[in-house]
Amino acid sequence: MLQASNAEGRFIGRFDDTNQRYYQARLRELNANAWLLRPALDLLNVLLLIAVIYSYGARELGGVEIGVLYAFVGYIGRVVEPLIQITLQFGQLQQAVVAASRVSYLLREPAAQQPGADGRIAAGAVSFRRLTFGYQPEHPVLHDLSLEIPAGGFVGIVGHTGSGKSTLLSLLLRFYRPQHGDILIDGQPLESISDAAFRAGIGLVPQDPFLLAASARENIDMGRGLSQQAIEDAARAADVHELILSLENGYDSDMGESGARLSSGQKQLIAIARALAGKPRILLLDEATSHIDSETEQLVQQALTRLAGKITLISIAHRLSTIRDADTIIVLNHGRIAETGDHEQLMRLGGIYQRLYLLQQMQTEDEA
Ligand code: ATP
Ligand code: MG
Repeated sequence: MLQASNAEGRFIGRFDDTNQRYYQARLRELNANAWLLRPALDLLNVLLLIAVIYSYGARELGGVEIGVLYAFVGYIGRVVEPLIQITLQFGQLQQAVVAASRVSYLLREPAAQQPGADGRIAAGAVSFRRLTFGYQPEHPVLHDLSLEIPAGGFVGIVGHTGSGKSTLLSLLLRFYRPQHGDILIDGQPLESISDAAFRAGIGLVPQDPFLLAASARENIDMGRGLSQQAIEDAARAADVHELILSLENGYDSDMGESGARLSSGQKQLIAIARALAGKPRILLLDEATSHIDSETEQLVQQALTRLAGKITLISIAHRLSTIRDADTIIVLNHGRIAETGDHEQLMRLGGIYQRLYLLQQMQTEDEA
């Protein structure tokens, strides 16, 4: 990466910079130790010695044996020596304090799930209520966003890059917690759903799905031990059954290192099959940004249309044609809902959606 972007020089500079700062900090620490701690203790040592000798001297050594004086001087050493040891460990102590505070910061991070959470995802209705969230709280990415998705609904989300589409899914997946507002599934807050029920109830098709260097079957099964029937059903629902059969070994064909044999659209279809194989009630799809040829685009669209009504579908679309049939299309703009409606309504509205749609149609015609 560094070499490809010709950035070695810049990074070497940054590395030097960091080293230099570390060196200076170390030096300051050593200086502080040298000036403050050790000499201070030596001074204490000497002062104690003076005090002892002085108090004996005041009594003019009358009746005090030299042995007793010697013992006292020895005691002073015993008092001071542990103090010296402590100062020597002082730097380590400080490091330990810092390390401990970091560990406790992690430990204090609240669990996403409440203990004793026993909620289930039965129907798959999702509601976002007055959601405000920013990766840095002072820069919200989503502003006071509310959205109701009925069980079995098909919602398409569109919007310019950076408008907060993936962020919305990340919140629903409990990757982050909103600063304000609630997310409910079937009327229950997200935290009240157990991890197992949560993972079983929600299927995710990420923007850049990862395929294993294994067979098609293993890529759909993902170690869940599903039956051949279940795997084929999922593949059919995602419209990759035919594609897989057309490979030389059918379901046993190797997909190549991270799916190198497949186009990115086909990878996404396999990822849809993988998600569907878990029989989720809610399917989240973050569509691949580019490189989908219009044929796969059509396959994705058909797969979604066939699933519509059976499970709740939330699909982030970059190719608007894949969500043409959605019940509701949400247009996000800078973290707010700018337009809502189905395809016909939004086209008639003549806003952002219409512009995006016409633009993509022109591009597709250019390619054809
Ligand atoms: P795209 O169409 O390119 O996928 P998007 O609508 O999915 O865009 P998001 O990924 O939700 O956009 O990002 C919304 C905003 O949040 C952007 O300004 C982005 O820079 C910022 N952002 C996203 N992820 C993070 C993160 N992990 N940390 C900090 N900021 C982030
Ligand atoms: Mg995104």
